[in-house]
Amino acid sequence: MLFDQPTRAAAADDFGHLVHRTPHAVLPPASAADVASAVHWAADHGLRFAPQGRRHSVFGRSQVDGGVVAEMTTLRTVHAVEDDRVVVDAGATWRDVLAKTLPRVPAGLPDYLDLSVGGTLAVGGVGAQISRTGALSDNVLEMEVVTGRGEILECSHGDLFDAVRAGLGQIGIITRATLALVPAATHVCRHLLVYPDLPTMLADQRLLAGDDRFAAVQGAVLAAPDGGWTFRLDAVADTEADLTGLSDDRRHAQVVTMTQLDHLDRLAQLERALRANGQWSLPHPWLTTFVGDVVVEAVVTAELDRLTPADLGPFGQVVVSAFRGRAVTSPLLRLPADSLCFTFNLIRIPASGEAAERLVAANRDVYERIRDAGGTLYPASALPMSGADWRDHFGPAFDRFGAAKEEFDPGHVLTPGYEVF
Ligand SMILES: Cc1cc2nc3c(=O)[nH]c(=O)nc-3n(C[C@H](O)[C@H](O)[C@H](O)COP(=O)(O)OP(=O)(O)OC[C@H]3O[C@@H](n4cnc5c(N)ncnc54)[C@H](O)[C@@H]3O)c2cc1C
Repeated sequence: MLFDQPTRAAAADDFGHLVHRTPHAVLPPASAADVASAVHWAADHGLRFAPQGRRHSVFGRSQVDGGVVAEMTTLRTVHAVEDDRVVVDAGATWRDVLAKTLPRVPAGLPDYLDLSVGGTLAVGGVGAQISRTGALSDNVLEMEVVTGRGEILECSHGDLFDAVRAGLGQIGIITRATLALVPAATHVCRHLLVYPDLPTMLADQRLLAGDDRFAAVQGAVLAAPDGGWTFRLDAVADTEADLTGLSDDRRHAQVVTMTQLDHLDRLAQLERALRANGQWSLPHPWLTTFVGDVVVEAVVTAELDRLTPADLGPFGQVVVSAFRGRAVTSPLLRLPADSLCFTFNLIRIPASGEAAERLVAANRDVYERIRDAGGTLYPASALPMSGADWRDHFGPAFDRFGAAKEEFDPGHVLTPGYEVF
């Protein structure tokens, strides 16, 4: 275990740069057995314990005040690759995994490749192909888990499996996972379609959700230079798609062919730009939610009316993307009841950190309005949540989740940063 100040300070920060809790010690594990020993050690000393992946949480969720943190990225081997599955250590990033699996890709792959496998499974994992494949947590076949009792267990179904997938690190620390792979073309064709307004963009998303001409469709609202909003769909297919029946402004449509890897790694360009201008290290008060089809137009319109382009920032965007709710089956990944759901994310990248506190408070207000409209939270979000909020969030799934907590982490040792239990 490491006790030096720089290591502990690094473990007290994350991508949000909003919450800082300094641990007593940091473990760079060499095996699942090391993680298990450290959980025992923490419990024996009355300390809490949390795994940290790539620290891309935005609200201190992988931090532990005065406790022990495991730097899971020291466990990052990609083991056996077969036609339909890959076995990986939980600290591997998606970039590490793809380097071994392409031209096959993990089903449910997220849109950003520098997250850890374990950290993504802990929240669920949502990517552009969610309508086709479901979430990442729907596509994990087996996991090796260290429980809050310090036992190393394997699971592929049942209470432990269901409480670890999208279980916010509350029940166990994932040390290894077997993930389903799907074939992918070597190149993709990306269609950027521009819309005059929100209703027209939403109507096309509904149309496209009902057919299979694109493998993935993502919608975004961006601040326009004139102070208004620009509405855009980013739709991907293996070859150039037939755009018949769509209502985009065809004069602005762009079709670009690129390699599959360039497409999967498309957020690297944004990261480079933000690192170059210093905004990567500023606070990131992001909010990610799911909204049902019936209310999406009213909810997004009202939130855009409240949002100022400055609070979103020139590199920020509002994500509004349709997906079939039925595709998601993980019990703890909570979605609205509608068969068609929309991700509604405020990717706030303000040009300075001054407004961070106000924007976290604004996130809480947006969340409450969305919840009251039947929407749900994607827990990788910057806002305070109480135990009662989480009970409400998990709804009918909470009792089974709570029972698993009592069975596998009765001392409530694990992952206090979410404040669920
Ligand atoms: C730039 C950026 C892009 C993103 N893109 C996407 C996206 O496309 N799709 C998507 O779904 N999400 C996305 N997210 C959200 C991201 O999935 C979550 O924040 C995720 O939890 C971060 O993973 P991490 O490896 O950085 O984990 P950390 O931030 O280190 O940890 C996150 C949580 O998971 C727990 N945890 C970490 N490792 C393990 C483990 N091995 N076992 C159990 N629990 C563990 C931690 O204790 C903590 O509670 C993005 C976030 C950022 C900042």
